[in-house]
Amino acid sequence: MTDKFTIGFVGIGMMGAPMASCLVNAGWPVRAYDLDREAAVRVTGAVVVRSPAEVAAGADLVITMLPDGKAVRAAVMGPDQSNLGGLAEAMAPGAVLADMSTSYPLETTSLAEVLEGTGITLIDAPVSGGVWRAELGKLTIMAGGDDAVIDRIEPALSAMGTVFRCGKLGAGHAMKVLNNYLSASGLAAACEAVLIGRRFGLDPDVMADVFNVSTGRNNATDVKLKQHINNEAYAAGFTMGLMAKDLRMAATLAADLEVPADGLSACRDLYNRAEAALGPRADHTEVMRIIEGLTGEAEG
Ligand code: NAD
Repeated sequence: MTDKFTIGFVGIGMMGAPMASCLVNAGWPVRAYDLDREAAVRVTGAVVVRSPAEVAAGADLVITMLPDGKAVRAAVMGPDQSNLGGLAEAMAPGAVLADMSTSYPLETTSLAEVLEGTGITLIDAPVSGGVWRAELGKLTIMAGGDDAVIDRIEPALSAMGTVFRCGKLGAGHAMKVLNNYLSASGLAAACEAVLIGRRFGLDPDVMADVFNVSTGRNNATDVKLKQHINNEAYAAGFTMGLMAKDLRMAATLAADLEVPADGLSACRDLYNRAEAALGPRADHTEVMRIIEGLTGEAEG
């Protein structure tokens, strides 16, 4: 690969748009593709293309930033899984496919098996930090797969955040779904604590201030309680559908590995209920509205 190789970016959504923009701003030649033609034009400075074949043409690295592993497999192998019309058909042998979506780890290893013999190497590199850290190029990137291949693509990944090597292929995806379990359960706990405190007569903003300089501090108390929940803005930029999906994957991983995880099951059930009640496009911070409903606070 030359110093600044061509990158195909597939999935120009809430996260993909700022991530691809960071690559462009760092001087990487980027080709952008999304099923939604309006979405891809959001990356100023990228070449907007209209098919998987065009996004893969001449790219040494293709990045997928799609809803989940099933969408990734459809993009890579083609809609009918025949390898026709997908990225794999058009990518050159020697090219690297980096799946930065939050995908299920065992689907990632299964996709690598399908790619065997094509000369394409799959790396998983999901991210944490949300839209605002994506805009700043300050994501946490959890990489899994061949170290030498990660060495080759790390200069490009570094334009979007800091790379942490988590281990074998799929390790990044396993790390990511477990991180989101902690994020989701921390948010649910913060919401419950605020409800109990409110009923006692505590001011929710004072509660956030105290949590944030005490041992109860977590990501939700820090960047969600005052910013999105106490003021009912509910616009953190990560959907309920994606959070519920991540929790289902974490719970499936626990079951596949025969680890009993009662807290994880309860958390998954709460967010599944929230997704069913509020719809997948609701902001994940609206889980507060479901917890309020359970306590009767919503009606009060
Ligand atoms: P999004 O729904 O905003 O974007 C996904 C994009 O993929 C959409 O524009 C959609 O049109 C496109 N797409 C779907 N299938 C496609 C295909 N076959 N070919 C081309 N384009 C296709 O989602 P997002 O919030 O950007 O999240 C993307 C991934 O990143 C998810 O796996 C999510 O769990 C993860 N993630 C999101 C956040 C966040 O804060 N939003 C944070 C960390 C990780």
